Amino acid sequence: MSTLVFYSEFDSFEEWSALLAPHLPGVTICRAETVQNPDEVHYALAWKPPHGFFAPYRNLKLLVNLGAGVDSLVGRDDLPAIPIVRLSDPDMSRMMAGYVLFAVLRYARDIPAFERAQREQRWHYLHPRTPSGIRVGVLGLGELGAYTAQELARQGFDVRGWSRTPKTIDNIRCSSGLGSLNDFLSQSDILVVMLPLTLHTAGLLSAERLACLPSGAAFINVSRGAIVDQAALTKALRSGQIAQATLDVFDREPLPPDDPLWGMDNVLITPHLASVAIPASAAQQVAENIQRAARGEPVSGQVFPARGY
Ligand code: NDP
Repeated sequence: MSTLVFYSEFDSFEEWSALLAPHLPGVTICRAETVQNPDEVHYALAWKPPHGFFAPYRNLKLLVNLGAGVDSLVGRDDLPAIPIVRLSDPDMSRMMAGYVLFAVLRYARDIPAFERAQREQRWHYLHPRTPSGIRVGVLGLGELGAYTAQELARQGFDVRGWSRTPKTIDNIRCSSGLGSLNDFLSQSDILVVMLPLTLHTAGLLSAERLACLPSGAAFINVSRGAIVDQAALTKALRSGQIAQATLDVFDREPLPPDDPLWGMDNVLITPHLASVAIPASAAQQVAENIQRAARGEPVSGQVFPARGY
């Protein structure tokens, strides 16, 4: 007998267990508090479990992170030495790409200027720009980043992407490594941050790096707030050096009520929901990974704690 233990304060146990059960005959799916025999727990499906969560499960074979971002997991000192996988879900990628497309198109079509003009009952004609003349830089070309970059390219934008290791992606001008970052930033009329938060990316977008963006650039962050110096970003948005921002993530969440970003009319704030785990489409990948682990085969979507993602 095998048991899969579930932990999340955000996700529905009932929904996940109903979707997984038909794929996993012989596996009992339960919450930590109803585990009968900890030695039979071979799999964990968890989002931000408390410290010490894994200790009772000495026979754990696979940990599935209930999300794409693993920054809250990989730095922990209580991780079991077993494969860890993140969610890889096409619907999650589509949802993320939809959010970024909305934010990029909103700037590309000057919608904030029309929203302002409408409030003032003013007919304000701005001749539309063609997407091919707008350079969109995507930092991070992973599962969500590469998919989003390609969707942007399909809209005709001049898309550039930046990653740690070199990449070749159709219709995207790719560059990699820290040495090319400042140049990359200087050629991004709209910057989209899609990097994981790691030891190497924390604070990566410092005041100096933000200053590399073309004057009047737009800034979109859908990954993690701590990648950006938020005070420097706020200052750049105040001065207009960065003209506009769409921010889904912040260095402190929820964003405190007295944060100056709330009151800035060139900033659009959303509460960390650019994309979420979608059980109906992600369950299949989770079940396949559990079946692979049961057969002793390699799993897909593995994360590497030493690398940070
Ligand atoms: P992946 O782990 O699949 O890809 C990460 C990408 O970032 C890779 O291209 C990687 O390069 C690159 N990268 C990592 N470290 C560096 C570095 N030091 N320098 C340059 N490039 C680097 O991530 P996803 O695309 O799946 O997701 C990105 C992030 O989005 C997640 O980590 C999470 O934080 C966030 N997220 C936010 C959500 C929201 O609702 N706001 C929802 C889901 C995720 P390489 O390809 O060379 O390895």
